[in-house]
Amino acid sequence: YPLLCSLLVSFLHIQTNIYQKRKIMKLNELKLEVDYFEFDEKYYHKINPTPLKNPKLVSFNPLACHLINLNYSECETSDFVDFINGSKILEGSTPFAMAYAGHQFGYFVPQLGDGRAINLGAVNNWHLQIKGSGLTRYSRQSDGRAVLRSSIREYIMSEAMFGLGIPTTRALGIIDSDSFVHREWEQESCAIVLRMSPSWIRVGTFEFFARSRDKETISQLADYVIKQSYPHLENEENKYEKMFYSLSDKTAELLAKWQVYGFQHGVMNTDNFSVAGLTIDYGPYAFMDYFEKNAICNHTDAEGRYSYNNQPYVARWNLLVLANALGEICDENRLKEYIKTFLPQHEKIYLDLMNKRLGLDASKSGNSNLLLILELLGSLENAKMDYNVFFYRLTHLKSFEDLSSILDIVVFQEPLKKWFESYKKVCIEQETTFESRFEVMKKVNPKYVLKNYIIQEAIEKAHEGDYTLVNDLLKIAQNPYDEHPFFERYAQPTPMKFANIKLSCSS
Ligand code: AMP
Ligand code: MG
Repeated sequence: YPLLCSLLVSFLHIQTNIYQKRKIMKLNELKLEVDYFEFDEKYYHKINPTPLKNPKLVSFNPLACHLINLNYSECETSDFVDFINGSKILEGSTPFAMAYAGHQFGYFVPQLGDGRAINLGAVNNWHLQIKGSGLTRYSRQSDGRAVLRSSIREYIMSEAMFGLGIPTTRALGIIDSDSFVHREWEQESCAIVLRMSPSWIRVGTFEFFARSRDKETISQLADYVIKQSYPHLENEENKYEKMFYSLSDKTAELLAKWQVYGFQHGVMNTDNFSVAGLTIDYGPYAFMDYFEKNAICNHTDAEGRYSYNNQPYVARWNLLVLANALGEICDENRLKEYIKTFLPQHEKIYLDLMNKRLGLDASKSGNSNLLLILELLGSLENAKMDYNVFFYRLTHLKSFEDLSSILDIVVFQEPLKKWFESYKKVCIEQETTFESRFEVMKKVNPKYVLKNYIIQEAIEKAHEGDYTLVNDLLKIAQNPYDEHPFFERYAQPTPMKFANIKLSCSS
Protein backbone atom coordinates (compact mmCIF):
# COMPACT_ATOMS: atom_id res chain seq x y z
CA TYR A 1 0.00 0.00 0.00
CA PRO A 2 2.55 2.68 0.97
CA LEU A 3 4.43 1.96 -2.23
CA LEU A 4 1.28 2.16 -4.30
CA CYS A 5 0.24 5.38 -2.58
CA SER A 6 3.58 7.04 -3.12
CA LEU A 7 3.56 5.96 -6.77
CA LEU A 8 0.10 7.43 -7.13
CA VAL A 9 1.16 10.67 -5.46
CA SER A 10 4.18 11.07 -7.68
CA PHE A 11 2.08 10.26 -10.75
CA LEU A 12 -0.40 12.99 -9.81
CA HIS A 13 2.49 15.33 -9.12
CA ILE A 14 3.90 14.78 -12.59
CA GLN A 15 0.45 15.21 -14.12
CA THR A 16 -0.13 18.55 -12.38
CA ASN A 17 3.35 19.66 -13.40
CA ILE A 18 2.61 18.87 -16.99
CA TYR A 19 -0.72 20.60 -16.62
CA GLN A 20 0.87 23.67 -15.05
CA LYS A 21 3.57 23.79 -17.69
CA ARG A 22 0.98 23.62 -20.43
CA LYS A 23 -1.40 26.09 -18.87
CA ILE A 24 -2.31 28.55 -21.54
CA MET A 25 -2.24 32.08 -20.20
CA LYS A 26 -3.97 35.30 -20.91
CA LEU A 27 -1.64 38.20 -21.56
CA ASN A 28 -2.31 39.64 -18.12
CA GLU A 29 -1.44 36.34 -16.49
CA LEU A 30 2.06 36.18 -17.98
CA LYS A 31 4.69 36.83 -15.34
CA LEU A 32 8.00 38.09 -16.58
CA GLU A 33 11.29 37.48 -14.80
CA VAL A 34 14.29 39.73 -15.05
CA ASP A 35 17.58 38.12 -14.05
CA TYR A 36 20.03 40.72 -15.36
CA PHE A 37 20.15 43.06 -12.40
CA GLU A 38 22.58 40.81 -10.57
CA PHE A 39 25.26 42.62 -12.59
CA ASP A 40 26.73 45.97 -11.72
CA GLU A 41 24.67 48.89 -13.00
CA LYS A 42 27.27 49.86 -15.53
CA TYR A 43 26.33 46.78 -17.57
CA TYR A 44 22.72 47.75 -18.26
CA HIS A 45 20.35 50.68 -18.29
CA LYS A 46 16.86 50.55 -16.82
CA ILE A 47 14.76 52.42 -19.34
CA ASN A 48 11.11 52.48 -20.28
CA PRO A 49 10.13 52.08 -23.92
CA THR A 50 8.92 55.15 -25.82
CA PRO A 51 5.68 54.03 -27.49
CA LEU A 52 4.88 54.68 -31.15
CA LYS A 53 1.86 56.69 -32.35
CA ASN A 54 -1.26 54.75 -33.43
CA PRO A 55 0.30 51.31 -33.23
CA LYS A 56 -1.37 48.62 -35.34
CA LEU A 57 -0.80 44.91 -35.51
CA VAL A 58 0.93 43.62 -38.63
CA SER A 59 1.20 39.98 -37.60
CA PHE A 60 1.51 37.66 -34.66
CA ASN A 61 3.13 34.27 -34.53
CA PRO A 62 1.06 31.43 -33.01
CA LEU A 63 4.10 29.14 -32.74
CA ALA A 64 5.91 31.69 -30.61
CA CYS A 65 2.80 32.15 -28.46
CA HIS A 66 2.99 28.45 -27.74
CA LEU A 67 6.57 28.78 -26.51
CA ILE A 68 5.54 31.26 -23.83
CA ASN A 69 2.16 29.63 -23.14
CA LEU A 70 0.26 32.63 -24.43
CA ASN A 71 -3.25 32.01 -25.64
CA TYR A 72 -3.09 33.33 -29.14
CA SER A 73 -6.57 34.71 -29.19
CA GLU A 74 -4.97 37.33 -26.91
CA CYS A 75 -2.96 38.58 -29.86
CA GLU A 76 -6.01 40.10 -31.47
CA THR A 77 -6.57 42.45 -28.53
CA SER A 78 -5.42 46.03 -28.26
CA ASP A 79 -3.58 44.98 -25.08
CA PHE A 80 -1.28 42.83 -27.15
CA VAL A 81 -0.48 45.76 -29.45
CA ASP A 82 0.20 47.91 -26.39
CA PHE A 83 2.43 45.18 -24.99
CA ILE A 84 4.62 45.18 -28.13
CA ASN A 85 4.46 48.96 -28.20
CA GLY A 86 5.86 49.07 -24.68
CA SER A 87 2.93 51.04 -23.29
CA LYS A 88 1.66 48.04 -21.36
CA ILE A 89 4.20 46.65 -18.94
CA LEU A 90 3.41 43.18 -17.60
CA GLU A 91 3.82 41.97 -14.06
CA GLY A 92 7.44 41.26 -13.13
CA SER A 93 8.84 43.25 -16.02
CA THR A 94 11.42 46.00 -15.51
CA PRO A 95 12.52 47.16 -18.97
CA PHE A 96 16.24 47.59 -19.56
CA ALA A 97 18.88 47.79 -22.28
CA MET A 98 22.14 45.82 -22.18
CA ALA A 99 25.60 47.24 -22.71
CA TYR A 100 28.11 45.51 -24.92
CA ALA A 101 31.16 46.26 -27.01
CA GLY A 102 32.14 44.65 -30.30
CA HIS A 103 34.44 44.37 -33.25
CA GLN A 104 32.71 46.01 -36.21
CA PHE A 105 34.34 45.09 -39.52
CA GLY A 106 37.43 44.12 -37.58
CA TYR A 107 37.72 47.29 -35.51
CA PHE A 108 37.08 47.37 -31.79
CA VAL A 109 34.27 49.66 -30.63
CA PRO A 110 34.43 49.85 -26.83
CA GLN A 111 30.86 50.97 -26.20
CA LEU A 112 27.84 49.65 -28.04
CA GLY A 113 24.71 48.16 -26.57
CA ASP A 114 21.00 47.80 -27.17
CA GLY A 115 20.60 51.12 -28.97
CA ARG A 116 17.04 50.45 -29.94
CA ALA A 117 16.08 47.17 -28.28
CA ILE A 118 14.59 47.01 -24.83
CA ASN A 119 14.47 43.81 -22.77
CA LEU A 120 11.25 43.08 -20.92
CA GLY A 121 12.13 39.93 -19.01
CA ALA A 122 11.68 36.22 -19.60
CA VAL A 123 8.80 33.76 -19.75
CA ASN A 124 9.65 30.05 -19.89
CA ASN A 125 13.31 31.02 -20.37
CA TRP A 126 12.44 32.97 -23.52
CA HIS A 127 13.88 36.44 -23.06
CA LEU A 128 11.56 38.98 -24.65
CA GLN A 129 12.90 42.05 -26.36
CA ILE A 130 11.16 44.83 -28.26
CA LYS A 131 13.25 46.21 -31.08
CA GLY A 132 12.65 49.78 -32.22
CA SER A 133 11.20 50.90 -28.93
CA GLY A 134 13.04 54.19 -28.47
CA LEU A 135 16.22 55.73 -27.15
CA THR A 136 18.44 54.07 -24.57
CA ARG A 137 21.76 55.05 -23.06
CA TYR A 138 23.37 53.12 -25.94
CA SER A 139 21.60 54.79 -28.86
CA ARG A 140 24.63 56.96 -29.66
CA GLN A 141 23.71 59.38 -32.52
CA SER A 142 20.71 57.34 -33.64
CA ASP A 143 16.97 57.50 -32.97
CA GLY A 144 16.25 54.20 -31.27
CA ARG A 145 13.77 53.26 -33.95
CA ALA A 146 13.40 50.51 -36.54
CA VAL A 147 11.52 50.98 -39.80
CA LEU A 148 8.84 48.67 -41.11
CA ARG A 149 10.91 47.03 -43.86
CA SER A 150 13.72 45.88 -41.59
CA SER A 151 11.25 44.76 -38.94
CA ILE A 152 9.33 42.62 -41.43
CA ARG A 153 12.64 41.19 -42.62
CA GLU A 154 13.66 40.14 -39.12
CA TYR A 155 10.20 38.85 -38.25
CA ILE A 156 9.89 36.58 -41.28
CA MET A 157 13.47 35.45 -41.52
CA SER A 158 13.87 34.33 -37.93
CA GLU A 159 10.87 32.06 -38.47
CA ALA A 160 12.23 30.88 -41.84
CA MET A 161 15.47 29.85 -40.15
CA PHE A 162 13.46 28.00 -37.53
CA GLY A 163 11.50 26.30 -40.34
CA LEU A 164 14.77 25.04 -41.81
CA GLY A 165 16.03 23.79 -38.46
CA ILE A 166 18.73 26.45 -38.14
CA PRO A 167 19.29 27.71 -34.58
CA THR A 168 17.84 31.20 -34.27
CA THR A 169 16.06 33.76 -32.15
CA ARG A 170 12.27 33.85 -32.67
CA ALA A 171 9.62 36.54 -33.04
CA LEU A 172 6.23 36.84 -31.36
CA GLY A 173 4.68 39.73 -33.22
CA ILE A 174 5.18 42.93 -35.15
CA ILE A 175 3.44 46.30 -35.12
CA ASP A 176 3.45 49.22 -37.54
CA SER A 177 2.61 52.83 -36.58
CA ASP A 178 2.04 56.43 -37.56
CA SER A 179 5.42 57.49 -36.16
CA PHE A 180 8.01 58.29 -38.80
CA VAL A 181 11.78 58.53 -39.00
CA HIS A 182 14.10 59.61 -41.73
CA ARG A 183 16.23 56.97 -43.45
CA GLU A 184 18.48 57.17 -46.53
CA TRP A 185 15.91 58.40 -48.99
CA GLU A 186 12.65 59.28 -47.24
CA GLN A 187 10.48 59.26 -44.15
CA GLU A 188 9.54 55.72 -43.20
CA SER A 189 7.06 54.40 -40.69
CA CYS A 190 8.40 52.99 -37.45
CA ALA A 191 7.68 49.43 -36.44
CA ILE A 192 8.50 47.21 -33.49
CA VAL A 193 9.21 43.49 -33.49
CA LEU A 194 8.83 41.59 -30.27
CA ARG A 195 11.61 39.07 -30.55
CA MET A 196 12.57 36.37 -28.13
CA SER A 197 15.62 34.26 -27.48
CA PRO A 198 16.98 31.78 -24.96
CA SER A 199 19.90 34.25 -24.72
CA TRP A 200 20.78 37.74 -25.87
CA ILE A 201 24.40 37.56 -24.75
CA ARG A 202 26.88 38.29 -27.49
CA VAL A 203 30.63 37.87 -27.94
CA GLY A 204 30.60 41.65 -27.61
CA THR A 205 29.04 41.36 -24.15
CA PHE A 206 32.13 39.48 -23.00
CA GLU A 207 34.35 42.05 -24.67
CA PHE A 208 32.57 44.75 -22.68
CA PHE A 209 32.86 42.90 -19.37
CA ALA A 210 36.49 42.01 -20.12
CA ARG A 211 37.42 45.67 -20.07
CA SER A 212 37.08 45.50 -16.30
CA ARG A 213 40.03 43.05 -16.28
CA ASP A 214 38.33 41.73 -13.18
CA LYS A 215 38.16 37.96 -12.80
CA GLU A 216 35.06 38.07 -10.67
CA THR A 217 33.08 40.27 -13.05
CA ILE A 218 33.92 38.16 -16.10
CA SER A 219 33.18 34.93 -14.19
CA GLN A 220 29.84 36.35 -13.21
CA LEU A 221 28.91 36.79 -16.86
CA ALA A 222 30.27 33.35 -17.75
CA ASP A 223 28.23 31.81 -14.92
CA TYR A 224 25.16 33.61 -16.22
CA VAL A 225 25.77 32.24 -19.73
CA ILE A 226 26.34 28.73 -18.38
CA LYS A 227 23.10 28.88 -16.45
CA GLN A 228 21.27 30.19 -19.49
CA SER A 229 22.75 28.14 -22.31
CA TYR A 230 25.02 25.41 -20.92
CA PRO A 231 23.37 24.28 -17.67
CA HIS A 232 24.96 20.81 -17.93
CA LEU A 233 28.33 22.43 -17.21
CA GLU A 234 27.31 24.16 -14.00
CA ASN A 235 29.13 21.79 -11.65
CA GLU A 236 31.97 20.84 -13.96
CA GLU A 237 35.64 21.51 -13.40
CA ASN A 238 37.04 24.08 -15.85
CA LYS A 239 33.49 25.01 -16.70
CA TYR A 240 34.43 28.25 -18.45
CA GLU A 241 36.72 26.46 -20.84
CA LYS A 242 34.09 23.83 -21.47
CA MET A 243 31.54 26.56 -22.12
CA PHE A 244 33.84 27.88 -24.81
CA TYR A 245 34.32 24.44 -26.34
CA SER A 246 30.56 23.87 -26.44
CA LEU A 247 30.03 27.23 -28.09
CA SER A 248 32.74 26.47 -30.63
CA ASP A 249 30.97 23.18 -31.47
CA LYS A 250 27.58 24.85 -31.72
CA THR A 251 28.96 27.61 -33.89
CA ALA A 252 30.56 25.08 -36.25
CA GLU A 253 27.17 23.48 -36.66
CA LEU A 254 25.41 26.82 -37.08
CA LEU A 255 27.81 27.96 -39.77
CA ALA A 256 27.60 24.62 -41.58
CA LYS A 257 23.83 25.03 -41.74
CA TRP A 258 24.12 28.61 -42.98
CA GLN A 259 26.48 27.51 -45.73
CA VAL A 260 24.41 24.48 -46.71
CA TYR A 261 21.29 26.59 -47.26
CA GLY A 262 23.12 29.55 -48.77
CA PHE A 263 22.31 31.90 -45.89
CA GLN A 264 24.40 35.02 -45.61
CA HIS A 265 24.21 36.99 -42.38
CA GLY A 266 25.69 40.16 -43.77
CA VAL A 267 27.05 41.74 -40.57
CA MET A 268 28.93 39.16 -38.54
CA ASN A 269 30.38 41.73 -36.18
CA THR A 270 31.12 40.31 -32.72
CA ASP A 271 28.25 42.37 -31.28
CA ASN A 272 25.92 40.44 -33.60
CA PHE A 273 27.37 37.08 -32.64
CA SER A 274 25.60 34.89 -30.11
CA VAL A 275 27.36 33.00 -27.32
CA ALA A 276 24.51 30.50 -27.42
CA GLY A 277 25.20 29.48 -31.01
CA LEU A 278 22.11 31.17 -32.46
CA THR A 279 21.53 33.31 -35.51
CA ILE A 280 20.84 36.78 -34.07
CA ASP A 281 20.33 40.37 -35.27
CA TYR A 282 18.94 39.99 -38.75
CA GLY A 283 20.09 42.94 -40.85
CA PRO A 284 21.07 42.92 -44.53
CA TYR A 285 20.98 39.10 -44.67
CA ALA A 286 20.16 37.06 -47.77
CA PHE A 287 19.47 33.59 -48.95
CA MET A 288 21.60 33.11 -52.01
CA ASP A 289 19.61 33.41 -55.24
CA TYR A 290 22.03 32.29 -57.97
CA PHE A 291 25.00 30.48 -56.50
CA GLU A 292 28.02 32.73 -56.21
CA LYS A 293 30.67 31.75 -53.73
CA ASN A 294 31.94 35.27 -53.13
CA ALA A 295 28.49 36.83 -52.90
CA ILE A 296 28.27 39.91 -50.66
CA CYS A 297 24.79 40.91 -49.50
CA ASN A 298 25.69 43.98 -47.44
CA HIS A 299 26.47 46.95 -49.63
CA THR A 300 28.60 48.67 -47.01
CA ASP A 301 30.85 45.59 -46.98
CA ALA A 302 32.96 46.75 -49.92
CA GLU A 303 35.80 44.32 -49.23
CA GLY A 304 33.58 41.30 -48.75
CA ARG A 305 34.68 40.63 -45.20
CA TYR A 306 31.29 38.96 -44.65
CA SER A 307 30.94 37.37 -48.07
CA TYR A 308 29.32 33.94 -48.25
CA ASN A 309 32.58 32.06 -48.54
CA ASN A 310 34.22 33.96 -45.70
CA GLN A 311 31.53 33.23 -43.11
CA PRO A 312 33.13 30.19 -41.46
CA TYR A 313 36.46 32.00 -41.17
CA VAL A 314 34.82 35.05 -39.68
CA ALA A 315 33.00 32.87 -37.16
CA ARG A 316 36.33 31.38 -36.15
CA TRP A 317 37.81 34.86 -35.88
CA ASN A 318 34.91 35.90 -33.64
CA LEU A 319 35.62 32.90 -31.42
CA LEU A 320 39.23 34.06 -31.17
CA VAL A 321 38.01 37.44 -29.99
CA LEU A 322 35.95 35.66 -27.36
CA ALA A 323 38.93 33.53 -26.32
CA ASN A 324 40.79 36.75 -25.81
CA ALA A 325 37.99 38.24 -23.71
CA LEU A 326 37.97 35.12 -21.54
CA GLY A 327 41.72 35.37 -20.95
CA GLU A 328 41.30 36.37 -17.29
CA ILE A 329 39.25 33.30 -16.39
CA CYS A 330 40.51 30.63 -18.80
CA ASP A 331 43.79 29.36 -20.12
CA GLU A 332 43.63 31.30 -23.37
CA ASN A 333 46.10 28.98 -25.09
CA ARG A 334 43.88 26.00 -24.46
CA LEU A 335 40.95 27.89 -25.99
CA LYS A 336 43.03 28.78 -29.01
CA GLU A 337 44.12 25.18 -29.32
CA TYR A 338 40.47 24.13 -29.34
CA ILE A 339 39.63 26.62 -32.08
CA LYS A 340 41.78 24.46 -34.36
CA THR A 341 38.92 21.94 -34.32
CA PHE A 342 36.44 24.52 -35.57
CA LEU A 343 37.01 24.30 -39.32
CA PRO A 344 37.31 20.48 -39.45
CA GLN A 345 34.09 20.18 -37.45
CA HIS A 346 32.36 22.69 -39.65
CA GLU A 347 33.52 20.79 -42.72
CA LYS A 348 32.28 17.47 -41.40
CA ILE A 349 28.79 18.76 -40.64
CA TYR A 350 28.69 20.70 -43.90
CA LEU A 351 29.64 17.64 -45.96
CA ASP A 352 27.22 15.45 -44.11
CA LEU A 353 24.32 17.77 -44.84
CA MET A 354 25.37 18.54 -48.41
CA ASN A 355 25.54 14.83 -49.11
CA LYS A 356 22.02 14.48 -47.80
CA ARG A 357 20.93 17.30 -50.07
CA LEU A 358 22.23 15.10 -52.92
CA GLY A 359 20.55 12.00 -51.52
CA LEU A 360 23.94 10.52 -50.69
CA ASP A 361 25.62 9.27 -47.56
CA ALA A 362 28.81 11.08 -46.53
CA SER A 363 30.05 8.13 -44.50
CA LYS A 364 30.01 5.82 -47.51
CA SER A 365 32.69 7.46 -49.58
CA GLY A 366 34.97 10.09 -48.18
CA ASN A 367 36.91 12.23 -50.55
CA SER A 368 34.97 11.60 -53.72
CA ASN A 369 31.92 13.21 -52.19
CA LEU A 370 33.90 16.28 -51.21
CA LEU A 371 35.11 16.59 -54.78
CA LEU A 372 31.59 16.02 -56.07
CA ILE A 373 30.31 18.88 -53.94
CA LEU A 374 33.11 21.22 -54.90
CA GLU A 375 32.48 20.40 -58.54
CA LEU A 376 28.77 21.04 -58.03
CA LEU A 377 29.35 24.49 -56.53
CA GLY A 378 31.57 25.45 -59.44
CA SER A 379 29.01 24.14 -61.92
CA LEU A 380 26.10 25.93 -60.27
CA GLU A 381 28.03 29.18 -60.40
CA ASN A 382 29.09 28.72 -64.00
CA ALA A 383 25.66 27.59 -65.10
CA LYS A 384 23.96 30.45 -63.18
CA MET A 385 21.55 28.27 -61.30
CA ASP A 386 19.24 29.24 -58.47
CA TYR A 387 20.92 27.52 -55.52
CA ASN A 388 18.03 26.15 -53.46
CA VAL A 389 15.77 25.57 -56.45
CA PHE A 390 18.47 23.26 -57.78
CA PHE A 391 18.19 20.96 -54.76
CA TYR A 392 14.42 20.93 -54.86
CA ARG A 393 14.37 19.98 -58.52
CA LEU A 394 17.08 17.36 -57.97
CA THR A 395 14.90 15.82 -55.28
CA HIS A 396 12.09 15.36 -57.79
CA LEU A 397 14.25 14.21 -60.68
CA LYS A 398 12.99 10.93 -62.15
CA SER A 399 15.77 9.94 -64.53
CA PHE A 400 19.25 10.92 -65.69
CA GLU A 401 17.99 10.84 -69.28
CA ASP A 402 15.74 13.84 -68.76
CA LEU A 403 17.41 16.72 -66.94
CA SER A 404 15.17 19.36 -68.49
CA SER A 405 13.59 20.47 -65.20
CA ILE A 406 17.05 21.68 -64.22
CA LEU A 407 18.75 22.47 -67.51
CA ASP A 408 15.83 24.58 -68.73
CA ILE A 409 16.34 27.14 -65.99
CA VAL A 410 20.08 27.73 -66.31
CA VAL A 411 21.93 30.13 -68.52
CA PHE A 412 24.74 27.71 -69.43
CA GLN A 413 23.93 24.01 -69.51
CA GLU A 414 27.32 22.40 -70.13
CA PRO A 415 28.78 22.76 -66.59
CA LEU A 416 25.77 21.03 -65.03
CA LYS A 417 25.55 18.32 -67.69
CA LYS A 418 29.15 17.49 -66.88
CA TRP A 419 28.49 17.47 -63.17
CA PHE A 420 25.60 15.05 -63.63
CA GLU A 421 28.03 12.53 -65.13
CA SER A 422 30.10 12.62 -61.94
CA TYR A 423 26.98 12.50 -59.80
CA LYS A 424 25.60 9.49 -61.65
CA LYS A 425 28.87 7.62 -61.02
CA VAL A 426 28.72 8.26 -57.26
CA CYS A 427 25.03 7.33 -57.15
CA ILE A 428 25.87 3.99 -58.75
CA GLU A 429 28.93 3.45 -56.49
CA GLN A 430 26.75 4.03 -53.45
CA GLU A 431 24.08 1.72 -54.85
CA THR A 432 21.36 4.32 -54.52
CA THR A 433 18.20 4.62 -56.59
CA PHE A 434 16.01 7.61 -57.46
CA GLU A 435 13.58 6.37 -54.83
CA SER A 436 16.16 5.91 -52.07
CA ARG A 437 17.70 9.30 -52.76
CA PHE A 438 14.27 10.93 -52.80
CA GLU A 439 13.61 9.63 -49.29
CA VAL A 440 16.81 11.32 -48.04
CA MET A 441 16.46 14.52 -50.04
CA LYS A 442 12.83 15.29 -49.29
CA LYS A 443 13.75 15.90 -45.63
CA VAL A 444 16.47 18.44 -46.34
CA ASN A 445 15.46 20.14 -49.59
CA PRO A 446 12.57 22.50 -48.93
CA LYS A 447 10.32 23.72 -51.68
CA TYR A 448 10.31 27.28 -50.34
CA VAL A 449 13.33 29.33 -49.36
CA LEU A 450 12.44 32.95 -48.74
CA LYS A 451 14.77 34.93 -50.88
CA ASN A 452 14.98 38.68 -50.52
CA TYR A 453 12.83 39.58 -53.50
CA ILE A 454 9.95 37.61 -51.97
CA ILE A 455 10.20 39.41 -48.66
CA GLN A 456 10.47 42.66 -50.58
CA GLU A 457 7.02 42.03 -52.11
CA ALA A 458 5.54 41.65 -48.63
CA ILE A 459 7.25 44.87 -47.55
CA GLU A 460 5.88 46.81 -50.50
CA LYS A 461 2.35 45.60 -49.80
CA ALA A 462 2.76 46.41 -46.11
CA HIS A 463 3.77 49.96 -47.03
CA GLU A 464 0.37 50.23 -48.71
CA GLY A 465 -1.29 49.02 -45.51
CA ASP A 466 -1.87 45.44 -46.68
CA TYR A 467 -0.25 43.00 -44.27
CA THR A 468 -1.69 39.78 -45.69
CA LEU A 469 1.47 38.75 -47.49
CA VAL A 470 3.51 39.14 -44.29
CA ASN A 471 1.17 36.65 -42.68
CA ASP A 472 1.25 34.31 -45.68
CA LEU A 473 5.04 34.38 -45.76
CA LEU A 474 5.15 33.63 -42.05
CA LYS A 475 3.30 30.37 -42.72
CA ILE A 476 5.51 29.52 -45.68
CA ALA A 477 8.58 30.33 -43.57
CA GLN A 478 7.50 27.95 -40.86
CA ASN A 479 6.45 25.16 -43.26
CA PRO A 480 8.94 25.32 -46.11
CA TYR A 481 8.53 21.66 -47.08
CA ASP A 482 4.76 21.90 -47.50
CA GLU A 483 2.80 22.76 -50.60
CA HIS A 484 1.51 26.34 -50.73
CA PRO A 485 -0.52 26.26 -53.95
CA PHE A 486 -1.16 29.99 -54.16
CA PHE A 487 2.54 30.73 -53.92
CA GLU A 488 3.94 28.30 -56.49
CA ARG A 489 5.88 31.13 -58.13
CA TYR A 490 8.02 31.58 -55.00
CA ALA A 491 9.34 28.05 -55.55
CA GLN A 492 10.68 29.11 -58.97
CA PRO A 493 14.11 30.57 -59.72
CA THR A 494 14.48 34.21 -58.69
CA PRO A 495 13.79 36.50 -61.67
CA MET A 496 17.23 37.61 -62.86
CA LYS A 497 16.56 41.30 -62.28
CA PHE A 498 15.95 40.63 -58.58
CA ALA A 499 18.87 38.27 -58.03
CA ASN A 500 21.65 38.69 -55.47
CA ILE A 501 20.82 42.32 -54.67
CA LYS A 502 22.86 44.05 -51.99
CA LEU A 503 21.07 45.58 -49.04
CA SER A 504 22.03 48.51 -46.92
CA CYS A 505 22.58 48.37 -43.18
CA SER A 506 20.26 51.36 -42.70
CA SER A 507 17.18 50.03 -40.99
P1 AMP B 1 23.60 46.65 -35.88
O1 AMP B 1 24.69 46.70 -36.91
O2 AMP B 1 22.21 46.83 -36.44
O3 AMP B 1 23.71 45.43 -35.03
O4 AMP B 1 23.79 47.91 -34.94
C1 AMP B 1 25.00 48.21 -34.31
C2 AMP B 1 24.73 49.04 -33.11
O5 AMP B 1 24.04 50.24 -33.44
C3 AMP B 1 23.89 48.34 -32.05
O6 AMP B 1 24.41 48.70 -30.80
C4 AMP B 1 22.52 48.91 -32.28
O7 AMP B 1 21.72 48.87 -31.13
C5 AMP B 1 22.81 50.33 -32.73
N1 AMP B 1 21.77 50.88 -33.59
C6 AMP B 1 21.48 50.55 -34.87
N2 AMP B 1 20.47 51.25 -35.36
C7 AMP B 1 20.06 52.07 -34.37
C8 AMP B 1 19.03 53.07 -34.23
N3 AMP B 1 18.20 53.39 -35.23
N4 AMP B 1 18.94 53.71 -33.04
C9 AMP B 1 19.77 53.42 -32.04
N5 AMP B 1 20.75 52.53 -32.10
C10 AMP B 1 20.91 51.85 -33.24
MG1 MG C 1 23.21 44.31 -33.65
